[in-house]
Amino acid sequence: MENNRKTALVTGAGRGIGREIAIAFYKKGYNVVIGYAGNDEAANETKKLCESEGVLGGISLVKGDVSKEETAKKLIETALSFTGKLEVLVNNAGITRDNLLARMTPSDFDSVIDTNLRGAFLLSQMAIRPMMKQRFGRIISISSVVGVHGNAGQVNYSASKAGLIGMTKSIAKELAARNITANAIAPGMIETDMTGVLSDDVKEKINAQIPAKRMGSSKDVANAVLFLADENSGYITGQVLAVDGGMGM
Ligand code: NAP
Repeated sequence: MENNRKTALVTGAGRGIGREIAIAFYKKGYNVVIGYAGNDEAANETKKLCESEGVLGGISLVKGDVSKEETAKKLIETALSFTGKLEVLVNNAGITRDNLLARMTPSDFDSVIDTNLRGAFLLSQMAIRPMMKQRFGRIISISSVVGVHGNAGQVNYSASKAGLIGMTKSIAKELAARNITANAIAPGMIETDMTGVLSDDVKEKINAQIPAKRMGSSKDVANAVLFLADENSGYITGQVLAVDGGMGM
């Protein structure tokens, strides 16, 4: 039991943005739950990177599909096993299955909505129970610049990310009086495995359209998450914070 520490549950924390978010919370002294889909090696590496920070909080790994109720339940139970409380939920797990609308299969649509949106719904619903009891909570969902502006080839993904924004605002309205905030972050182009599939040529073209003229890092996003999770950010709720080098302006 790590009784004097806060607990943060981060989905999709095996790699990329989620990994940096988990490390950032651990460095701040939180117990962290690292959710991931199936890549054990990557998740163990996140754990190792946390431990190398030398802080002595609790770290638990939970493998499973975030769109399944049993996984969501296990994630919440694991988070509560540290102190009985859950201060921060970060809905970060996400996938892409890009294609033009004319060619997109219903299963590509469903799998993206299930992971990116249903998973966040299940976890938010289960997280608010302990958060209401403790009269404190921070729910932070990783949306995207394309959830605000749309993007050709990403009907499924942009719908899921726009859905996260609507969900965030509704949660914020339902729970503001209970001292639970809900905010979304809309990253632009961040260097991770997800964007690693793009060719250098495509990346160059995208970078040329970003006012900052470069892709962002996972740390840029983690930094914004820490800000929204802070006790002193309690009057910020229902917002969408862009972390995009000016891309979405
Ligand atoms: P990533 O490198 O592809 O990592 C995705 C993480 O999500 C992995 O840990 C993966 O687990 C986990 N995951 C995938 N499907 C899952 C499922 N069904 N259940 C549980 N976990 C699942 O992605 P990223 O680039 O860090 O992106 C993180 C979030 O930021 C996503 O929501 C993404 O949409 C959003 N975002 C990214 C960018 C960008 O430019 N990269 C921009 C805007 C928004 P395994 O490691 O086990 O596979």
